[in-house]
Amino acid sequence: MNELIDPFGRKIEYLRLSVTDRCDFRCFYCIPKGFKDFTESDKRLNLEEYVRLIRLFSELGVDKIRITGGEPLMHPDLLRMVTRFSALPGISDLSLSTNASQLANRAKELKQAGINRINVSLDSLNPERFRNITQGNLSQVIAGLMAARDADIHPIKINMVVMRDQNLDEVGDMVDFCIEHGFTLRFIEAMPIGTGGQSVIESYVNLDEVRGILSQRFEFEPCRMTGAGPAKYVRVKGERLKIGFITPMSQHFCDSCNRVRLSCEGTLYLCLGQQDKLEMRPLLRQDLRDEQLKAEIVAAVRRKPEKHEFNTSPYQVVRVMSLTGG
Ligand code: SAM
Ligand code: SF4
Repeated sequence: MNELIDPFGRKIEYLRLSVTDRCDFRCFYCIPKGFKDFTESDKRLNLEEYVRLIRLFSELGVDKIRITGGEPLMHPDLLRMVTRFSALPGISDLSLSTNASQLANRAKELKQAGINRINVSLDSLNPERFRNITQGNLSQVIAGLMAARDADIHPIKINMVVMRDQNLDEVGDMVDFCIEHGFTLRFIEAMPIGTGGQSVIESYVNLDEVRGILSQRFEFEPCRMTGAGPAKYVRVKGERLKIGFITPMSQHFCDSCNRVRLSCEGTLYLCLGQQDKLEMRPLLRQDLRDEQLKAEIVAAVRRKPEKHEFNTSPYQVVRVMSLTGG
């Protein structure tokens, strides 16, 4: 039975785990330029603490876990983490968000350890632009994507944050790329999270505009997608490709929010767009019994805010996205 019901009657069944706030990329909308204030090692949860927390969440009704970050492939214990989480009886869905830069050599072992589906950030197919947005290398990402496909990881969802002055003119190319390789595509509206996210407020694009641009070349039909979360999906007529639109700004989906987020410091964030939280690391290190920890989690969920306020208070969330986990 799910014991995690918030004040608005929403059932929490999904936990997103930011296992590191560090990253080998520097997407400017995520980690601001020059940012150095990453979590110190003594403040990070260790493997046993993660496993215990995930077990407790699963006993309370959470059955879906997404490992994210920062870049989770930078975490030295990632493989052991995946193996241990996927062995927990209550976890039915374990997924990973990655920039794919280090996936080429890791896709197979991650699949064997229990990762069945992944989301990969890809904002441009132009190497120079890609470097400008991420400071990373596009060919490594493409190699990572192909390795994931060869390892039978499915679905592979491409996440593209659309920005007017960066990549709006590439949305059609991205559709072609995903048709060619059998990926699912999701467009995302940029959110003003931390100074990185706030630096792209001027580049914001309402995804209705993207749909309008694509309708000139493609015909869409409605479709369903398992594990869709907040994305609204359409299928490109005559193709297998499904396209999701994630619109936190223009049409928020807070009414159906089913998730909370745990940072690598052990902070439980109750809403991506609010400051409300529970510090779990001190509790974990206080020798509390499982039942006491579970009571803390249940009480925190009862404080989950109703919605984000990105449109009315865009400068409210100061923490960087990689800490909370996108
Ligand atoms: N490093 C991994 C990756 O890039 O997929 C996982 C972490 S990243 C924070 C997760 C997702 O958050 C990515 O798809 C990224 O594009 C998205 N993201 C980061 N900052 C964002 C922002 N300000 N607005 C919208 N999406 C953002
Ligand atoms: Fe790194 Fe992902 Fe943030 Fe880009 S979006 S800086 S890849 S954590």
